[in-house]
Amino acid sequence: MSDRLCQTRAMVHNLAEIASRQAAARPDDVAFEEAYGDRRTLTWSELDAQVDRFAAWLSGQGLVAGQRVALVLENRLELPVAYLAVLRLGLVAVPVNPRGAHDEVLALCAQTGTRVVVAERRWASTLTETGLRTVIAAPLRDEDVPAARPDAAVAFADALAADGPALPPPPQDPESLAVLMSTSGTSTRPRIVMLSHRALLANIVQVAAIRPQPIVAADRILLVLPLFHVFALNGVLGQALHQGATTVLLDRFDDQTLAEVARGAITVLPVAPPVVAAWCGRPGVAEALAGVRTVLSGAAPIEADLVEEFSATGGTTLHQGYGLTEAAPVVTTTLAQTDPVPGSVGTPVEGLEVRLVDSDGSDAHPDDPGEIWLRGPNLLTGFWPDGTDGPDADGWFATGDVGIRAPDGSLVLVDRLRELVIVSGFNVYPREVEEVLAEAPGVAEVAVVGVGDPYTGEAVRAYVVPVVPDADPEETAERLRAYAALRLAAFKVPRDIEVTDALPHTATGEISKSRLRAAEARRGIQGLL
Ligand code: AMP
Repeated sequence: MSDRLCQTRAMVHNLAEIASRQAAARPDDVAFEEAYGDRRTLTWSELDAQVDRFAAWLSGQGLVAGQRVALVLENRLELPVAYLAVLRLGLVAVPVNPRGAHDEVLALCAQTGTRVVVAERRWASTLTETGLRTVIAAPLRDEDVPAARPDAAVAFADALAADGPALPPPPQDPESLAVLMSTSGTSTRPRIVMLSHRALLANIVQVAAIRPQPIVAADRILLVLPLFHVFALNGVLGQALHQGATTVLLDRFDDQTLAEVARGAITVLPVAPPVVAAWCGRPGVAEALAGVRTVLSGAAPIEADLVEEFSATGGTTLHQGYGLTEAAPVVTTTLAQTDPVPGSVGTPVEGLEVRLVDSDGSDAHPDDPGEIWLRGPNLLTGFWPDGTDGPDADGWFATGDVGIRAPDGSLVLVDRLRELVIVSGFNVYPREVEEVLAEAPGVAEVAVVGVGDPYTGEAVRAYVVPVVPDADPEETAERLRAYAALRLAAFKVPRDIEVTDALPHTATGEISKSRLRAAEARRGIQGLL
C-alpha cells in the first residue's frame, strides 16, 4: 500500500471526523443541496453543527457505542446528518431502502437489533407500533404517533433543537463497526455485511488516489443513486466528504433528471445502467452533459455496445466501476484509463490485490476466467451477526464473481458463480422471491431466475406450477404478482410470472434452473430472428 494511504489512514480513524475537518477548512461552502422542493442546502459548518446536535440527542437516548441506528430515508439532507452523527458516537448505521416492503424493513431492523430509526414520515406508524424509537424526517402530525405512546416518535428538527449531553470525542478504533448493509455477495440469500471505519476510509482513499481524480473540491455531484446502497453511500458520498465537494441530492430518477444536470451545474454524474439506457439516443443529452467531467456507471452489468452508444450520444466517455458491498465498494474502475477496453471494468484501485482463481483454488491460467478473489484494507470484517465468512486467514475474500484479464491487465466480468439477479443495480436473491411465492395460496412449485432486460439490466422471472392444473394462467399470475408486491420491494417483484404445468428437474430431484435459463435464452434468440 502506498505511503499516502498509510498516512491518511493514520490521520483519521472515524469517518465522521472528515466532515468536521471540512467544516474547519471550508465552513461556508455548500456540502449538500436538495435538487427538489425548496432546494434546501447545508454548508459544511451547518452540517458539522447538526451532526453534533443529532449525536448529542442520540447519546441522550442512552445509546452507547456499537448499538445500531437504522436510516430509512430517501436522498435528503437528514440522511448525511444522521449517518455522520451515528458514526461520530461510535454507533452503527443500518441504511435501509425506504421503498422496501414493510416486512423487509422490519426484518432488517429486527435482525440488526436496531434501537432507533430515522425514517421518512410514511414509515412512522409502522415503526412506532413495533416499539422502535423513531425520528421522523419531517414535522410530526398527530396520526404519526400512537396515542398510548406519545414519546415513541420525535421530529428530526425537534431532536436537533433539544439539549443533549456534552459529547465525548469520536471513538478512534478503526476496526470498530461503522455500517451494516443488507445484500451483497452472490449467495442465494441476502446477508448483512459488516463494514468497519477502516474499510470505509480505505476505499475512500483508494478512490482518491485514482488519477485523474474522479472527484475534487470544486465538483458538484448529482446523487440520484439511493444512499442506502454502498455505491452511493461510500463510493460517492464518502468521496465527496473526503474532497469537500458539493453533493446535489435527488430523491428519484425521472424525466427531469437530465435537465437537472445542466440546471444544477453538475460536473460529476454517478449512475447505474438504467439511467444510461434511458438517456441513450435521447436528443439533448450531449448539451445537458456539456459541463460534466466524469460519468461513471457501476453496481450492475451493462452491455458494451450501450456504453459505446452512450459515449457517442453524450459526447463524453462513460466510465465503468465494479464493486461490491463487501469491498466498501470500489474494486476496479476505468477512470484511470483514457481509452478503456470495451466491456472491461478497468483496473484495481490502489492497494487492492486481485487474483483470478480456479475451482481447485489455484491461480487460473492467464487466458482463462477465474473467480475474483480480493485482498486489501477495504474489505469487510465478516457477515452479521457473528462476523463469519469474511477474508480468510491470509486476507483473501472470494467474491463469487467470475472475471478474465484483458491483454492490458484490465478486468472483464464474465459471469456470477451463483444465482444472484441484479435489477437496476439492486440484488435479488431468487430464494427470497421463491419463498414468498411458495407461501401464496394455490402454488405447488416455484422457481425464479434472472433474465435480460433492456432497461434494468436483468429482471426477475418466476415459473409457477399451480395446485389446480387448469387454473387460469393470467388470473393466477396477476394474483401472485399482487401477493408478491405486498411482501417484497418493487424491484424484487417478478416482471413476468409464467404459469406452467411442470418444471424441469435434475436427476436428484432439484428444479433445474439451468434448463429454465437455457429455455429463456432460446426464447430470446428466437425473438431476434
Ligand atoms: P452489491 O454488493 O449489492 O453492490 O452487488 C455486488 C455485485 O454486483 C457484484 O458482486 C457483481 O456481481 C455486480 N456488479 C457490480 N458492479 C458491476 C459492474 N460494473 N458490472 C457487472 N456487475 C457488477
